[in-house]
Amino acid sequence: LSDRLSGVFDRLTKQGALSEDDVKTALREVRVALLEADVSLPVARDFVKKVQDKATGQAVTKSVTPGQQVVKIVHDELVAVLTGEGDPGALKIDNPPAPILMVGLQGGGKTTTTAKLAKRLKEREGKRVLMASLDVYRPAAMQQLDVLGRQIGVDTLPIVPGEKPVDIAKRAKTQASLGGYDVYMLDTAGRLHIDDVLMGEVEQVSAVVSPRETLLVVDGLTGQVAVEVAQEFDDKVGISGVVLTRMDGDGRGGAALSMRAVTGKPIRFVGLGEKMDALETFEPDRIAGRILGMGDIVALVEKAQETIEAEQAEKMMRRFQKGQFNMNDLKLQFEQMQKMGGMESVMGMMPGMGKMAKQAAEAGLDDKVINRQIALINSMTKRERANPQILQASRKKRIAAGAGQEVSELNKLIKMHRQMSDMMKKLGKMGKGGMLKQAMK
Ligand code: GDP
Ligand code: MG
Repeated sequence: LSDRLSGVFDRLTKQGALSEDDVKTALREVRVALLEADVSLPVARDFVKKVQDKATGQAVTKSVTPGQQVVKIVHDELVAVLTGEGDPGALKIDNPPAPILMVGLQGGGKTTTTAKLAKRLKEREGKRVLMASLDVYRPAAMQQLDVLGRQIGVDTLPIVPGEKPVDIAKRAKTQASLGGYDVYMLDTAGRLHIDDVLMGEVEQVSAVVSPRETLLVVDGLTGQVAVEVAQEFDDKVGISGVVLTRMDGDGRGGAALSMRAVTGKPIRFVGLGEKMDALETFEPDRIAGRILGMGDIVALVEKAQETIEAEQAEKMMRRFQKGQFNMNDLKLQFEQMQKMGGMESVMGMMPGMGKMAKQAAEAGLDDKVINRQIALINSMTKRERANPQILQASRKKRIAAGAGQEVSELNKLIKMHRQMSDMMKKLGKMGKGGMLKQAMK
């Protein structure tokens, strides 16, 4: 993704404004990135369309590059889509005993997540939790939960061989009431694929306990199938949220966007490992970055900029070291400023220039002013630009008139040039000592 986008954003970075074509080109790559992150095709298509509409209608901000702007729009929209209402980590567990139903395919991480959540509720909220395994199919599945329960110091419902899932659920409910538990968690059985038997069973259990939360546990590495799974479970039992597991791996987590877009249900937690502490509340920002490889893009845009800046800076530095800084340099500076979005951003990156940047900002050195300064420089002859020290009264008059401005304006420009020239000389000397080079890295 980075490689592909690198080209696109390089181009965008060098242009002045966001055109509809720019947006389209960039979004084509974003769409591919989404698909690579395992976002389902229709969801990716919809998302891109939405961003396209938003981006094209938006005025171009001067202070950011077009590339950054596209990145920001995409990122913001992704975060917006991924963000649910309220705190994802706040489980509805008032009115004890509150039932929490864990559903999902086999191997998705239900049992592990059940125990992780139980531990979290116990430690963070001081809740008394009872866990029960309804997985009567997979050998040793019930023992697995039992072992985890002992490990984290959370009670599990005693195993009764041969009992049916619905009956286990009923017993858990009774036990939770009698035992004064705040929460009871039901860890259901999964299948490799959705089937009617599994669904029917989950529906029955759900009807019996009326869960406060029904959490769908999905492997974050799952791709397109996540959508089907989420839709099916949501249709049949109504999920209240999704837990995305295995996000400690390479998975880009595109399933999060798909499931969120299709069901409208929030992602609540993210599993980040096999250990019992490896569970975090969902942060849209982080997943958004991951889905798009956005960290990469942002870094990339910054880098592209730095490269331009570094090349420019190096060229200038060589001249400054020789004590050269003429009107052509100043003009270059002005043009660079306009491209990069203002005085402050350009000077801000040059070591020792922060203060001048502030002054410039305070002096209201905006685009209009910069244009007028450039006009003055354009009105000079080649010789005058290369040797500003020859500018006397008659020349000044001619130059100012040529630019349609007052001589006092030109004097300001000359003063600024002198100040900058002095500054540059100093910087150049520092550069010889390696300091400037260091600062520019
Ligand atoms: P279930 O069939 O849905 O109950 O899945 P399990 O809870 O038994 O988990 C299946 C496997 O995935 C186990 O080996 C877990 O340790 C592992 N697992 C669960 N969640 C995570 C996670 O967030 N990260 C990693 N790396 N492994 C996980
Ligand atoms: Mg299990």
